[in-house]
Amino acid sequence: MRDWKAIASFVRQLYATEDDFIALHEPGFVGNEKAYLEQCIDSGFVSSVGKFVDRFEDAVGEYCDCRGVAVVNGTAALHAALHVVGVEGGDEVITQGLSFVATPNSIKMAGGNPVFLDCDMDTMGLSPIALDAYLGTHAILKSDGSYNRKTGQRIAACVPVHIFGHACRIEEICEICDQWKIPVVEDAAEAIGSTYNGKALGTFGAMGVLSFNGNKIITTGGGGMILSQDTALADKAKHLTTTAKSVHAWEFSHDAMAWNYRMPNVNAALGLAQFEQLGDILADKREISKAYLEFFGARDERFVVAMEGCESNYWLNAIEVADREVRDSMLQYLNDNKVMARPLWVPMPDLPMYRDCYCDTFENGRYLADRIVNLPSGARFSKSD
Ligand SMILES: *Cc1c(COP(=O)(O)O)cnc(C)c1O
Repeated sequence: MRDWKAIASFVRQLYATEDDFIALHEPGFVGNEKAYLEQCIDSGFVSSVGKFVDRFEDAVGEYCDCRGVAVVNGTAALHAALHVVGVEGGDEVITQGLSFVATPNSIKMAGGNPVFLDCDMDTMGLSPIALDAYLGTHAILKSDGSYNRKTGQRIAACVPVHIFGHACRIEEICEICDQWKIPVVEDAAEAIGSTYNGKALGTFGAMGVLSFNGNKIITTGGGGMILSQDTALADKAKHLTTTAKSVHAWEFSHDAMAWNYRMPNVNAALGLAQFEQLGDILADKREISKAYLEFFGARDERFVVAMEGCESNYWLNAIEVADREVRDSMLQYLNDNKVMARPLWVPMPDLPMYRDCYCDTFENGRYLADRIVNLPSGARFSKSD
């Protein structure tokens, strides 16, 4: 019998609870959340206008050294960013087969067709080797960008994903995409607080996105942010996520087809208070990951660590087990014993709506999808606070 009990006991000790249910990732509200929400409600501005949106955008933007555009969720952020970098109906958009479904969904929302490539075994992010191989075989570079040799479709963007807060080989990916004139939109939904060589994830490509869903590192209830160091792109994203309204004292006119994706002020109030806690949350999450690393150092499972140069937020701690059968046995035991654990997402090319999309051999992706287990990873907020 495999020793899943030791893992459960370790997690219980880590979260200092004998028999409570331990969630995979839970938010905590121990700062100014209630105060800011009250201020927001008292101001009367809870919706699409208000100071908290500007303050939240400025705070996150300054922290990541870029411009931030707050929107309703990470999926909307990806959709808008893909549109802003030029994705149009019928275009190809390269991404990895291993991700959350929002990544290919947003590509479809922007009119694109996802192309699923393999990921690296260590980072779980888009493999630069797979990217290079795909483009070398299938793409032709023209003066205005790259096209698929066979179908003639434009290859309009590339969306690498920073899985669990660990950087993918983003510099190599950006270099390859630059050569092929393909804009990079980083799915950094899981990566606020993570850096690579000291630079915030989400700021390497033309644009990047964060998510503030309830299970992410910090939350606005639901929310997301578009990041860019290019002021013109950020301005365009702001304009198109706020109905593309022309600036005028009283006239109501709009100059483009656009969306109402703006983050409501009440969500931004929650977000600003959460952002103030980010440093403490990251410190505790990194302590948790260190404890897991030590624990699994003495066991057969491989604890997934970020590559060198990456300071990860360790959004979700992950281990790799021997095979799918071992994975399922561990998942069953832990969940039966109120220690929440889960596998990777079912690979995107296996989902019914994406089965017909191009997918390379995807060997690493399938290997990992059978073997990765996520363990409880949320910061510990003292209940008495
Ligand atoms: C959470 C997540 C998203 C989507 O964010 P939402 O705010 O839930 O829309 C996109 N991509 C990845 C990798 C995510 O984990």
